[in-house]
This record gives sequence, C-alpha cells and structure tokens, in this order.
Amino acid sequence: MLKSLLERLRNGEGVVVEDYKTVYVWGFVEEVPYETLYFNKGRWIIERLNCFSAIDLGLGTCNCNSHPTFLEETISRKEALELLKKYIQQKQREAASAEREMAWLDEAIASAE
Ligand SMILES: [Zn+2]
Repeated sequence: MLKSLLERLRNGEGVVVEDYKTVYVWGFVEEVPYETLYFNKGRWIIERLNCFSAIDLGLGTCNCNSHPTFLEETISRKEALELLKKYIQQKQREAASAEREMAWLDEAIASAE
C-alpha cells in the first residue's frame, strides 16, 4: 500500500486524503475531493477545496470567478507522512468492514433456502 502510494505521488498523481461528501437532491451521494496531497519538485503540497458551491464539482451554482475553487498550501514532510498514515489507516478500516460484510453474506447465503 505505502509503496504504491509513494509511486503515485512520484508520478505527480494526487492522493485524496479527505473526501467531502454531499448529497444530491435526487438522492445520489457524490464525493468530491476535499484534501488532496501532491508531491511536486521536492515539496509536499496539500490542495484543499475552497468553494463549497462550485458548479464544476456539482456542488452549487458558483462559477468561482472571484476566488479559486481549490487552494494550495505547502506542508512539511512530517505533516505529509502523517496524512499518508491516516489515509492507510482509513483504507484498513474500510477493508475490515468489507470483510465483515462478506462474512455476514456468506452466513446469510448458507442459511438461505
Ligand atoms: Zn466558487
């Protein structure tokens, strides 16, 4: 997990460390990136959603003419590593949750007629 994450970052790809969740009126849950971590020319950069009404992201009606949709901030290596740790922990929790669901389904299937 860590190795592939570091490879992605080295290739200039971002790692979404925090999603922002929004619920559409007609019931679909859409996730847009709230915080994305980048590694660029030796610097760790966090890109944060700045406008919660951005039309580009389907959040509202703002065209973001007078302000940026996202803001960038340089963070320390320590902060970046802590964010990666948090990201991996979150993925581990999701995997454990999916495993419990599979076990539940296996039991339900076994007991179903
Ligand atoms: Zn805006």
